[in-house]
Amino acid sequence: MTGSKTNSSADPTPTGVPKHLQGIDPNQVDWKAKDQAYWKEHLSPEQFAICRDAGTERPWTGQYCRSHEPGMYYCACCGLPLFESTNKFESGTGWPSFTEPYTKDAVMERADNAFGMSRVEVLCSRCGAHLGHVFEDGPPPTGRRYCINSVCLFRK
Ligand SMILES: [Zn+2]
Repeated sequence: MTGSKTNSSADPTPTGVPKHLQGIDPNQVDWKAKDQAYWKEHLSPEQFAICRDAGTERPWTGQYCRSHEPGMYYCACCGLPLFESTNKFESGTGWPSFTEPYTKDAVMERADNAFGMSRVEVLCSRCGAHLGHVFEDGPPPTGRRYCINSVCLFRK
């Protein structure tokens, strides 16, 4: 990010590194030890509701849903590399969609039976952030569709 400091704290996280990750080495932080008060302070209200409370952004509203610029997508909470633009595809769903994570260990998956649906939730393996869900209707070669909320990511 370059330029002005006119952003208010209410702005959605722009492309670039979130403030709470600037000037630190995110690999040296015990992210799992951060409590809800920490996240409430450092995330936008929408990010908090989605990343820390398993919410979902409205389709086609996220800054990355139509974006296919090259780059790495990092966890907006802890800065872990999660997805690469080379694995991003246009799913037509209104959420950023990837065929696979950057590494096998970058994300965790767990059963999510909320709202009477049987889905598989995707979480950041380092900080436990809710990212979205994974479905088995993706394109080759993996056949998987990682359906991820834009606000849980930043691209660099
Ligand atoms: Zn994370």
